Amino acid sequence: MTDPTLTIALAGNPNSGKTTIFNAITGTRQKVGNWPGVTVEKKEGVVHRHGYDLKVVDLPGTYSLTPFSIEEIVARNFILDESPDVVIDIIDASNLERSLYLATQLRELDCKVVFALNMMDMADSRGIKIDARKLSELLDVPVVLTVGNKEKGIDDLLAKAVELALSGTPPPQKRKVRYNQEVEKAIDSLQHYLTTHLGAALPYHPRWIAIKLIEDDAIIKERLAAIAGEGIGVLLATAKKQRAFLVDRFNDDPEIITTDERYGFITGIIKEVLTTSPRQRVDFSRNIDLVLTNRFLGMPIFFFFIWAMFQLTFTVGAYPQDWIEHLFELLAVGVDHLLPAGWVKDLIIDGIISGVGTVGVFLPNILILFFCIALFEDTGYMARAAFLMDKIMHLVGLHGKSFIPMLMGFGCNVPAIMATRTLESKTDRILTILITPFMSCSAKLPVYIVLAGGFFGVRAGTVIFCIYLTGIVLSILTGRLFRTVLFRGADAPFVMELPPYRVPMLKSLMIHMWDRSKMFLKRMGGVILVGSVIIWGLANFPRATELHDAQVQETARLEAQFQSELKAAPAHSQPEIEARREQALAELSQRVKSQQAAQSLLGRIGQALAPVFKPIGVDWRGGIALLSGFVAKEIVVSTLGVLYAVTDDPQANALESALRAAGMTPLSALSMMVFVLLYLPCLATVAAIRRETGSSGWMFFSITYTTSVAWLMAFLVYQGGRLLGLG
Ligand code: GDP
Ligand code: MG
Repeated sequence: MTDPTLTIALAGNPNSGKTTIFNAITGTRQKVGNWPGVTVEKKEGVVHRHGYDLKVVDLPGTYSLTPFSIEEIVARNFILDESPDVVIDIIDASNLERSLYLATQLRELDCKVVFALNMMDMADSRGIKIDARKLSELLDVPVVLTVGNKEKGIDDLLAKAVELALSGTPPPQKRKVRYNQEVEKAIDSLQHYLTTHLGAALPYHPRWIAIKLIEDDAIIKERLAAIAGEGIGVLLATAKKQRAFLVDRFNDDPEIITTDERYGFITGIIKEVLTTSPRQRVDFSRNIDLVLTNRFLGMPIFFFFIWAMFQLTFTVGAYPQDWIEHLFELLAVGVDHLLPAGWVKDLIIDGIISGVGTVGVFLPNILILFFCIALFEDTGYMARAAFLMDKIMHLVGLHGKSFIPMLMGFGCNVPAIMATRTLESKTDRILTILITPFMSCSAKLPVYIVLAGGFFGVRAGTVIFCIYLTGIVLSILTGRLFRTVLFRGADAPFVMELPPYRVPMLKSLMIHMWDRSKMFLKRMGGVILVGSVIIWGLANFPRATELHDAQVQETARLEAQFQSELKAAPAHSQPEIEARREQALAELSQRVKSQQAAQSLLGRIGQALAPVFKPIGVDWRGGIALLSGFVAKEIVVSTLGVLYAVTDDPQANALESALRAAGMTPLSALSMMVFVLLYLPCLATVAAIRRETGSSGWMFFSITYTTSVAWLMAFLVYQGGRLLGLG
């Protein structure tokens, strides 16, 4: 009776010590021949261990599994066709980075892998230290240390290999290379196509096949043709379309992109597991990284970039902002001339134009902000930022990887919360989702620009920067708190990918910027328009007729008074009188409007809630604006615009002067900004939280927590400031 057989394949770079280990395992029981059809030596041997016949096969030495050379094809075909029970990857520890390329490709292939970290003696003597435990965690692969020529670690290696071969668990799917968003999208769609059309007929893991199709792998295409029959035409056409899309986006062949990203993944692993390495390969990306991820310089540079981003957003954005503001003013004046007086005209001017206009002027700022974020992503700096933040994030009990969703949160919380899907552990995901809303999204920017711009003058950029910083600090503190109270335990290990730096393509930057800004425009036309109209309606009804009658009388009285003054005055002082007349009329109209608002439904709601907002220095109009911000944060500004009815006022910065006139001080403006920064996320974000956590419980928790923190912090700012005599 023969024992059951297990097949073990040995893979590895040339000169990694494969044959040495093969000999150490099989001793003299070897069979040497050629691989079928090619003159590449094949060595096979059978040994009896652990109650099994172990058939050990020495694969040709290769640096990758990309089917270019005969060796690569032979090695890959063996793994694909013979499905060995386990593959041992022999890694030259003194050349870890070079060896890992094959290792990551083996990981991508759906086979069971054990790493032999061979040449450990060489590594030691060169002062290279490798954290094998970490390596094992990061790639989810058992790692055994060996010294082949001294036959050290060989028994352990075999034992691990047999154990893995016998374990019922399929090869782990996580901890493989994740490609960039566009490539992942292409992979997803091909994978989806493959599983729906070929399903059970697929010979290999669909994700792997999809990647190979994207890399235009001729062998895999042939094999698919054999099983897909007629459907192959459509499949190949789909693959071609996806490839063309990627070529267009990156201006490079997809196989080059995937290779680059694998190297990025490897750079990340090396950063985590390799401590000293005397001979560092000098290259472009690494030179930049010497500075940008430097232990001392990295952080200041990072903060400088972020600060510069907000400066740029604020100062450069101010110019087009002025033009757009004028555009809306012209529009209001035009409508004023065209329509007869009445509530329809009021609705259009004070509701729609004022509401959409006060938000629309911020489009340039938002475009600039998104442009900067796209620049960080496309150059590869975003990954470095995550790397830098890794230490700080560990304070929270999270990884630097969680910082990427948080950083995206500066743009919009909705995609940011969706981006937490890349995190592997569920608790990491929920924790990241809970702290992301403190990252101030671009919709809040208009509020800061109005308040900081109006009350802090030249220091507005710095004030806004500090607001953002407050958000970051609070999210870190929150993370720490939740990690100790709600989610005890360690964070999951992961690989920080450091892709090579790239010179970004303008087209790709534009597409990324536009993709995100589109949402802003859609919101202007949709939710902000509707919100403004509703707020206007609530602010103007029920109509206080006696107020409007009084306004008509008062207008007539003023007109008469100025008319007689004009008649009596000499010609040179007439312009001055005209100006006074204009101002008196504008003041009257503003007074009536705010009195009307005070008596309206909105005013009543606001006044009922006034006690809640008073301790944080916000009046009832501000309170209403904050409430309306739940629909979308931009509406905070447009509500202020409607409540203070500012488009009637011909001078620029009308909203700011109206706010000042209503008694707002720099301190209360600051308190309001802090509240806006922290309080409940907008409707769309709340929906995203529910969807991604899969629970209404977390959603309500997030709403309550953020709002309580917001009120408390605003309270501290306002009351603290008053104690210090600042307002
Ligand atoms: P292959 O190309 O993978 O077949 O590599 P070989 O097995 O022929 O090994 C290449 C050389 O490395 C040989 O001279 C081995 O003696 C040597 N070697 C193998 N393993 C080790 C090791 O762990 N440490 C050291 N110092 N040398 C090793
Ligand atoms: Mg050999």
